Amino acid sequence: MSNFLTRGLNICSNFAQAKLPTLLPTACELCGAGSGKRQLCPACAARLPTPAPSCPVCALPSPAGVLCGACLKHPPPFAATLAAYLYAPPVDLLIQAFKFRGRLSLAPLLAQGLQEAITARGAVLPELILPMPLTRTRQRERGYNQAQEIARWLAGRLEIPLLAQAVRRVGEGPPQSSLPWKERARNIRGAFLCSAVVAGKRLAVVDDVMTTGATATELARALKAAGAAEVVNWMVARTLPPAD
Ligand SMILES: [Zn+2]
Ligand SMILES: [Zn+2]
Repeated sequence: MSNFLTRGLNICSNFAQAKLPTLLPTACELCGAGSGKRQLCPACAARLPTPAPSCPVCALPSPAGVLCGACLKHPPPFAATLAAYLYAPPVDLLIQAFKFRGRLSLAPLLAQGLQEAITARGAVLPELILPMPLTRTRQRERGYNQAQEIARWLAGRLEIPLLAQAVRRVGEGPPQSSLPWKERARNIRGAFLCSAVVAGKRLAVVDDVMTTGATATELARALKAAGAAEVVNWMVARTLPPAD
């Protein structure tokens, strides 16, 4: 087959794939029921766990949504954290499929949930959106940065510039998720190198999950040290700390 024809077929098949979601009814990502043009059926969409009233700074539960004792005592370098969902079933299943099993088609679903939370809570929009960077090794292994996929979608919808290359994550310590909670802050220290373009800017850092907050804290610290005026976190989901 000629190169021209092969290329033509590839273009056709890419076109067909790109068009499929709009031509065919979609099956719900969670239960498989018909969901029209949406990625989740209404019943599954209603089951996604949203946070109880939370501290505006760390997004952990706090009565009546007031600033929590921990943030009052040791203010983090970020000004606010907004999480669309709790990291609990079935949101965790969606995020794991998106992050570890290459289901990039879930990015719009997760990003849209985040956008709806941003709008519903009347969050002040930043000047720049920054995806949580991965180390070069991790990005090579995974083939993509899940935070960047969500950040790109949001930046497009909100018409806010995306800063994709302004921060580098250096050091190749073990993945944060492989460590006990108490060791994560030490593992991530000094992990981010920021360029001067962040100076004087109000930034939103986008990531899929905030667990201990150690990575977000270290990034915000590095951004503030590079002159950022304000850093907020926009997270798809927030993990609750283990019960003592
Ligand atoms: Zn469903
Ligand atoms: Zn707090």
